[in-house]
Amino acid sequence: MNDPAQEQVVVLASGNKGKLRELAGILAPLGLRLKSQAEFNVPEVEENGLSFVENAIIKARAAAGCSGLAAIADDSGLEVDFLNGAPGIHSARYSGQGDAANNAKLLAALGELPREQRTARFQCALVFMRHALDPMPLVCQASWEGYILEAPRGENGFGYDPLFYVPRYQCSSAELPAGVKNRISHRAMASARLLEALRQR
Ligand code: IMP
Repeated sequence: MNDPAQEQVVVLASGNKGKLRELAGILAPLGLRLKSQAEFNVPEVEENGLSFVENAIIKARAAAGCSGLAAIADDSGLEVDFLNGAPGIHSARYSGQGDAANNAKLLAALGELPREQRTARFQCALVFMRHALDPMPLVCQASWEGYILEAPRGENGFGYDPLFYVPRYQCSSAELPAGVKNRISHRAMASARLLEALRQR
């Protein structure tokens, strides 16, 4: 158990409770206590960066600025080789109509393409900023390699999980139990790297 007097409070630039729980558990051993940006009335910022890293920095900077605390933000998405990296940083709004329509659009874009041309990866950038003007954010990145299936499979997860085939487990990421996905995903790997980077610092 950490001594509350020794804890550093860090704001997570996301309203997603799942992300908060997952990252809070990872960072607790370092004496970092994570709070949601919902507690600080952080306004929605325009994610107008051209990379996952830039967008994560934009979000972390806004959260640090509003809260006066150190901040962590992540940005992630799906990169499909045949589509030259699309949907990429536009993953959440690929179709403009939510997850099911995003998946339908992706399937249509790949058509009957054979397996070896359906390679893809989830990307995650995770950023830690000591304050809003931090000129040296800690940036941790990770990828998770797979293929895009011909049809959705599985009920777990969110977003593109039903279409993302994980070769090592021979199933889609929506068929993986949450505990397994949270150990091996792009976000899990980037989080492990952030933990290590914060330890070093
Ligand atoms: P964000 O970084 O949470 O805003 O995620 C951006 C978008 O990328 C999501 O809305 C999903 O469409 C996609 N995405 C990111 N990570 C995952 C994942 O683990 N599974 C499925 N889709 C994901």
